[in-house]
Amino acid sequence: MDVPQGVFKSSQKLKNHQLKYLNRLLEITYKENEFYKTFYRRKRLIFPKKINSWEEYAKLPLVSRKDLQYDYEKHPPLGRNINLKQMAKVKIRRTSGTTGRSLYFVESEEDRKTKFKMLQRRYGHLGVDDKDVIYMFWPPDMYEFHAEVFMSLGATVYMTDLIPDIEIIKNINRQKINNIFLSPSHAVQLSHIVAKEKVSIDRKIKRRFFLNGEPGGFDWQFRKKIKEVWNAECVNIGGASELDQIFTECPQSPGYSHLAEEFLLCEIINPDTLKPDLVGELVVTALWKTGSSFIRYRTGDKVTMVGKKCRCGNVTTLIEGGLQGRMDQAINLNSALIYTNGVEAIIRRYFEIIDYRIEILNINERNFFRIYIETDKLNKRAQNKMLWELEAYVYHRPEIKIVAPGTFKSNIWKTKRIIDSRNNKIKSILLSTPFLKRWV
Ligand SMILES: [Zn+2]
Repeated sequence: MDVPQGVFKSSQKLKNHQLKYLNRLLEITYKENEFYKTFYRRKRLIFPKKINSWEEYAKLPLVSRKDLQYDYEKHPPLGRNINLKQMAKVKIRRTSGTTGRSLYFVESEEDRKTKFKMLQRRYGHLGVDDKDVIYMFWPPDMYEFHAEVFMSLGATVYMTDLIPDIEIIKNINRQKINNIFLSPSHAVQLSHIVAKEKVSIDRKIKRRFFLNGEPGGFDWQFRKKIKEVWNAECVNIGGASELDQIFTECPQSPGYSHLAEEFLLCEIINPDTLKPDLVGELVVTALWKTGSSFIRYRTGDKVTMVGKKCRCGNVTTLIEGGLQGRMDQAINLNSALIYTNGVEAIIRRYFEIIDYRIEILNINERNFFRIYIETDKLNKRAQNKMLWELEAYVYHRPEIKIVAPGTFKSNIWKTKRIIDSRNNKIKSILLSTPFLKRWV
């Protein structure tokens, strides 16, 4: 794909660009991709070689992760969602599997080149340049590629592992690090080390925290604390392994993000009626991918459209925050649908909480949340405020237990913090967690 340089300021130009690459994608997919051909045949549809209008596009069937997984199981080792005749100069990747079973996909040589330019464009727009010294708390498979992109923009990159410790904080001062790529949990953990070890952070340096991987990064209370401790502004970026970039927070409209519609054809649908909606599941077609295809692919992620243009002039769709949780993580609790990442975002507002686990239980026919929080100094007033906010969100008074700092020791990327123990076949690991006191 020829990666567009500037942002699209005309919707018509964006649409023309999308249609051009949609048709290229259909052509590529038609040639070799046995998964799509069979999938469409089964739906009694002819795989289209060309699409002329969005009405035609909207008639293409939706593809879910389950459909691809089914194909993969029937056709090992990789499934049939492959557009290449020969598997040369390709990278076989798989999704992380944090939200279900993993999925394999092929990244062609062209895909890697496009991805490089796509990320270069994203970080270039965000202002990354030769004045930036970057620290990355990312898993190895992500940071190598991104580090190359940052270096191409002139930045200096410090690689690190995922364990925040005092040495890292000293280095942030010594090396004059002004950009840190990390998850909201890492940001909290680093800040706690600063407080505990009484290190003074050089506040003359203006910093940026690029947040990714977990909910909580959009919360203004969380951001206020980051500003206080680090003199850092937060920018949220988001994606998925099989699609890469999905959204980037707009520096001119903090709290809102642009969908990467230069690369993805995006729709938001109601997951029950499958009709377009302002709030619902994000469905995408990855216009730039040539190794494996994702056409009207249900991401499973919930997004909320803002419904107006952004002040920055970029015409791509503006959404509230970023990805607001997995649709399949919505829990039906006492007839109310609750998104667990909303619960996580509330907890993240309280900076005194180092880590947490959320358990959903059913005891004596009663469904409820039990939340373990790792903290040693959440005061009574904050405790009550948090409880009140949680109660308003989950429609019942959750049970909260305080555990000692260091109990959970989760330094890995995308730690699983939600455990649904209602199905008694899965025995909760939390039942044996020693807790300091029962709070509520
Ligand atoms: Zn904007």
